[in-house]
Amino acid sequence: MHATHDVIVIGAGFAGLYMLHKLRSYGFDAHILERAPSIGGTWYWNKYPGARCDTESLQYSYQFSEELQQEWEWTEKYARQPEILNYLNHVADRFQLHAHIKLNFDVKNIIYKNELWEISGKNEEKFHANFCIMATGCLSQPLNAKIAGIEDFEGECYQSSLWPEKEIDFTKKTIAVLGTGSSGMQIIPEVAKSAKKLYVLQRTPNYSVPAHNRSLDPDFVQEFKKNYKKNRADAKKLVSGFLTTYNKKSALEVTKQELKEEYDKRWAAGGLAFLAAFSDITHNLDANKTATKYIEDKIDEIVKNKKISEELKPRSIVGCKRLVIESNYYDTFNKGNVELINLKKNPISWIKRKGIDIEGIGEIDIDMIILATGFDAMTGALNNINIIGKNNINLKDKWINGPETYLGLATNGFPNFFTITGPGSPSVLTNMIPTIEQHVDWIAGCIRYIKTKSYHSIEANRDAEIEWGKYNDKCAHDTLRYYCDSWYLGSNVTGKKRVFYPFVGGLPVYIEKCEKIVNNSYEGFTLE
Ligand code: NAP
Repeated sequence: MHATHDVIVIGAGFAGLYMLHKLRSYGFDAHILERAPSIGGTWYWNKYPGARCDTESLQYSYQFSEELQQEWEWTEKYARQPEILNYLNHVADRFQLHAHIKLNFDVKNIIYKNELWEISGKNEEKFHANFCIMATGCLSQPLNAKIAGIEDFEGECYQSSLWPEKEIDFTKKTIAVLGTGSSGMQIIPEVAKSAKKLYVLQRTPNYSVPAHNRSLDPDFVQEFKKNYKKNRADAKKLVSGFLTTYNKKSALEVTKQELKEEYDKRWAAGGLAFLAAFSDITHNLDANKTATKYIEDKIDEIVKNKKISEELKPRSIVGCKRLVIESNYYDTFNKGNVELINLKKNPISWIKRKGIDIEGIGEIDIDMIILATGFDAMTGALNNINIIGKNNINLKDKWINGPETYLGLATNGFPNFFTITGPGSPSVLTNMIPTIEQHVDWIAGCIRYIKTKSYHSIEANRDAEIEWGKYNDKCAHDTLRYYCDSWYLGSNVTGKKRVFYPFVGGLPVYIEKCEKIVNNSYEGFTLE
């Protein structure tokens, strides 16, 4: 007979670790199951060269402990992957979490049986819990790029999101990188530093603004930390949950001079705040065009070869796909060992044993292929597990026409089952860490409520999740993000239903809704 735990949490990344800590601090018997050999989630798997956060480190960190946020010293404006992983290990040590985490446990089945969740992996071992919480991440299920012949390739082949522990040597090698999203655009400048030859195989160019990463100025850090509580509270009032200056002016009402000055200022500062340069960039196509023109002019300025700079211009909507924050990406194309291949004009015909055959170019010899081809976002990690709720409903089947959730936190037919930053929550459109903390606090508060009121279960109502889905869909249609192909819409995954996966109505609206539900005794849920 296996012990029954109060809660099993799946995943030991930012979300899982804080969930574990919070539940244990409330006195619950909570445990984590994690498939990796180490904690860290995204920040364990994505250890590719150049991996770095695109949200400023002083904000991309936990705030649940004032001592923690005061004592931890971030070294750079944007933290590198090893530093973030060290931070998470420090958190796990500091709050004594390791003893409650089972590593190398790849969850395959989560089944609701006899009013308990039964969780199992590949072998016999099973866990039973009253509550099951998915902390499996939004961008954690690597997309298996189906490229003809790739299995026959005899050279080295690596995927950015499953990067090996060992040191990879690029020197004296001819390397092809596929994918020019955030991951690819971080890898490319790093590989170009030492590769003999680098082919950038670009299917769709992306917009990018500079990171201007630098060591953190101790005076700035001291000042920021002095006001940490206020800074965090102010950030929560902003749609993205990220503390920055949102310009309230429209891009269409200012003079050309003012427009340029504002964009120059944002470009010089670097980072995602570029999208906050004017109030209507993400909602009005004409306003957006002022931003696209600015970035495309910058590409012309940086990239010396006119033909290449033309190929690098997305000619799309900036911010529609995730805006990339780069360090020397465009400048990399001025290097003699880097060649851009536009796969829209010259598609890959076949991967051969020792190279890549490209239409209109022929076969190029390749020693190493790096796939930075993205993720099955928001639902991929959940659908990868066989999750069976009440009445034998499979979550994957239930979500065949897109995820149906109440606030991205729960779904009808799956009692006592929660998702942290699930589809239908602001998650990836916000600063992930405060958003994760908001979800964790809500879920922990909910479980505590159920236990103290002697309820047995909580389940989202069908009508509540339908209403929430409609509201999210309406909000999505009001933004430009709805009108291009991106992983926000699932369009990078063949056959995936085209709906807007994260909640796009902004963090303050979302937090207010979550609080209202609690104040109304969990309105929209059935408690038994
Ligand atoms: P991504 O944005 O989805 O980019 C994947 C790239 O691979 C795209 O350029 C895509 O082209 C290309 N691709 C996919 N399949 C292909 C194929 N069969 N042949 C050729 N090209 C193919 O994925 P990502 O770069 O891993 O980033 C995903 C998200 O993770 C980001 O948007 C961001 O939110 C997060 N992330 C953040 C950071 C950071 O904090 N700095 C770093 C990495 C990732 P198409 O566009 O044509 O499909």
